Amino acid sequence: MSDHARILIAGAGIGGLALAQALRHGGYDVVVFERDPTPRTRDQGYRLHLDPNGNAALRTCLPRQVLDRVRSTSGVNGDLVAAYTHRLEQVMAQTFPAITSDEITHVDRDTLRQGLLAGLGDSVRFDRTVTGYQITASGRVRVEFLDGGSDEGDLLVGADGVRSAVRRQLLPHATTRDVGLRCIYGRMTINETTDALIPDDFDRGFCWVADDKGYGAGFATVRFRSRPDGASDYLMTTLVATPDRLGVTDETLFALPSEDLRQIAVQATVDWHPAVRQLFAHADTETFFPITIRASERVDAWEAGPVTLLGDAIHTMPPTGGVGANTALQDAATLAGELVAAADSGRPLVEAVAAYERVMLPRGFDTIENSLRMAERMVATSD
Ligand SMILES: Cc1cc2nc3c(=O)[nH]c(=O)nc-3n(C[C@H](O)[C@H](O)[C@H](O)COP(=O)(O)OP(=O)(O)OC[C@H]3O[C@@H](n4cnc5c(N)ncnc54)[C@H](O)[C@@H]3O)c2cc1C
Repeated sequence: MSDHARILIAGAGIGGLALAQALRHGGYDVVVFERDPTPRTRDQGYRLHLDPNGNAALRTCLPRQVLDRVRSTSGVNGDLVAAYTHRLEQVMAQTFPAITSDEITHVDRDTLRQGLLAGLGDSVRFDRTVTGYQITASGRVRVEFLDGGSDEGDLLVGADGVRSAVRRQLLPHATTRDVGLRCIYGRMTINETTDALIPDDFDRGFCWVADDKGYGAGFATVRFRSRPDGASDYLMTTLVATPDRLGVTDETLFALPSEDLRQIAVQATVDWHPAVRQLFAHADTETFFPITIRASERVDAWEAGPVTLLGDAIHTMPPTGGVGANTALQDAATLAGELVAAADSGRPLVEAVAAYERVMLPRGFDTIENSLRMAERMVATSD
């Protein structure tokens, strides 16, 4: 294999960009194709919890100056995960006092993406929706775009998230299932007035509050170590319930304007402790959006070739474990490690891909199972 192999990545999300950083650093020619028209058009959540695995993967993938940027724009360290009844009685608390000041415990998703883009320049092509691929007669991959164009490389990595076009073609039998929960995400900008509303524990990590009527709500702050231009510190809020409990069909829920979604959260928590209830009441009206919690069904290993998958594209992770991004980063680190080692030793790309898939598949699907167990516990937390 030539050490100038060309790697095509579908999706400039967390996993795709971390992989691009690591491969460029390792001497590969990399190009990333992203569906979004610009780096700032996402509606996929606000705060991301990063764990030691995610931190280790970032250290592996990112050049020093990019890692420093991601760290300096991350949130001030949190050390608590706790659960409460809707009367704000603590039922569980776990602290992580050993965290060093260097460790990244959480990030703002958009800010992380800006950090991961640093230095990649025109290797990332926005407004390029991947629709599929062809394997050429010489065994290379030709990736095809919605606008009719195409590009060719030695390996295509589908890092194109939950509705992956690459997965649809590579593994048409692979499915994701609706876990039966809906989340309504929002956020409250922290200013002089709202700062005083945040209970102390909610400023120390992720706090989960649940009642005995089927509603749960999560809260966590992002206070930037060094605030990027235009960003504000905020409290992330999420209301979680089954569609039955919410009392609206998906068709209605996903068509509701942001203010109506916020009102659902306000109404759902109307008899909760006032310190919790008022957080939804003071949240920013235009920031609310709904998501369906989905999880991939386990798939068997397939024969490795010039197309592979990474992150949510292969193992869509419910957000309940707070590990989907961490796992996508681990995938990026594992795949980059195998590809760079292959280039150094002259091994064929496909052997590196096979070695990556042997690690990635069981890790990804075991992590989904843990996240689903966590989802069951979260909706049963009230008592
Ligand atoms: C609300 C919410 C909260 C979460 N909280 C956490 C958390 O705290 N911690 C955690 O670890 N995980 C969390 N997760 C999960 C985490 O966000 C995902 O697991 C993670 O983003 C997966 O990374 P990825 O790179 O695989 O996919 P993504 O980050 O989703 O990136 C996929 C990229 O591919 C692009 N794309 C899609 N289709 C195409 C196409 N056809 N052509 C080109 N580009 C395409 C998308 O626009 C996107 O940029 C959360 C998820 C949600 C929804």
